[in-house]
Amino acid sequence: MHNTVQQLKILLAEDSSLQENCVWCQEAMLPIGTRTKYNAVVIFRIGDSIDNGWFATLSPQTGGDPQRDFTVQLMTFGHFSHFAQLAGNPKLAKNYGLAFGKLNAAMTMIMAEEQPEFKAVSPTRETGAAVAAYGKCTTWQEKKEHLHLKLFPFRGDLGQPSIVDSTFGKKQIHYDHLTKEEFVKMKPIRKVLLPEKRLVYLAGKIVSLLCQETGKE
Ligand SMILES: [Zn+2]
Repeated sequence: MHNTVQQLKILLAEDSSLQENCVWCQEAMLPIGTRTKYNAVVIFRIGDSIDNGWFATLSPQTGGDPQRDFTVQLMTFGHFSHFAQLAGNPKLAKNYGLAFGKLNAAMTMIMAEEQPEFKAVSPTRETGAAVAAYGKCTTWQEKKEHLHLKLFPFRGDLGQPSIVDSTFGKKQIHYDHLTKEEFVKMKPIRKVLLPEKRLVYLAGKIVSLLCQETGKE
């Protein structure tokens, strides 16, 4: 037990300073509008130091329909690796909430604008504006990464139930006689590049929506 407490203490107090070999640490200080090494666009920043800041990029590629769908990645400035570390950093936690809300608002605005029949309560799945978020953290060395979450429209091929959804649990179970394993069917997701024009449009749109939002404060 003593060892557990000690290891948890070490985890929560880990060094979050920028790491030379971390791709996201290299992006953390880029200004809004900058392209990263792999052509993502920096679209949002909040906070003023590695202790409290978050930034977001629009990915150059997405699953689903590249004409309609897109993926946003939200990351800490600092090299945090576990969501539990937010508990001891109230400003980082506060900025996470603001960043998450503002990015969701901008994404929903874009989806609503591009859906002529958009309604706050939509009668059909197709005319709704659904957003999903996915993030995980681990202490497993091989997968212990800079904290990041992905936000994306939950529709089409990207709108398949997640393993924690009850609809996933209700999927029909099949049996592979070759491997003697059970499995459920899911549609494959292939990441495709957004057309350059679409990437530029979406990045500009999200930045301008978030600037308007900031202006209101
Ligand atoms: Zn990092």
